[in-house]
Amino acid sequence: MTSNISTFLSAIKVTLDTHADEVAELDQAIGDGDHLINLQRGLDALIRQADELNTMELSAALRKIGMTLMSTMGGASGSLFGSMFVSMGKMAKDKPVNFTNMAAVFTAGVESVKARGKADIGEKTMLDTLIPAMNSLNDSVRQGAAVNDALADMKQAAEKGMRSTKDMLATKGRSSFLGERARGHIDAGARTSQLMLCAIADVIVKK
Ligand code: ADP
Ligand code: MG
Repeated sequence: MTSNISTFLSAIKVTLDTHADEVAELDQAIGDGDHLINLQRGLDALIRQADELNTMELSAALRKIGMTLMSTMGGASGSLFGSMFVSMGKMAKDKPVNFTNMAAVFTAGVESVKARGKADIGEKTMLDTLIPAMNSLNDSVRQGAAVNDALADMKQAAEKGMRSTKDMLATKGRSSFLGERARGHIDAGARTSQLMLCAIADVIVKK
């Protein structure tokens, strides 16, 4: 798995580039318009480190990804994704790479976004994608589902969660200052999180 970090980074880059205009518009509508640029800056820094990341064991690689995102991305999302990956790195320590452990690693990451952002589901943020995706994965682990089925379900849950942000009022982040005017727009971070999860799942399924 660690040797494939470049494959994941490339897949994420493709999906963000493909949806660049859409994501920029979403953050312009109810944010300050920099979300895509923040993400791309972080991703480019990771792509420059890819050779080194590919040689590291998973726990250390996730931790390094988190530190790099924190120091390069900027924006609310920089510290949120940064702490997500640092926490995932901690949870991955000494764990063999299998589906059950990876669901636990992802869960630790999402929990750290909740804690760092002091936010939960229903507040029109990336958590409206991440929490349903996490719950879906954990349900699949409990049910002993096959990995490909679990990832297909996770993608559906993430997409449904992302779409649910459209009609929400925002209570966290910049869009919370807009009140009713935020309604009718999907949250940019919810959309990019869903795009990235979908790209990651597709890479795993193809293997
Ligand atoms: P900024 O809001 O500082 O300009 P970005 O534009 O990079 O940062 O990221 C905005 C995204 O971050 C939002 O679309 C939302 O999904 C997410 N976000 C903002 N605040 C929070 C929070 N407190 N908890 C979780 N996610 C948040
Ligand atoms: Mg912004």
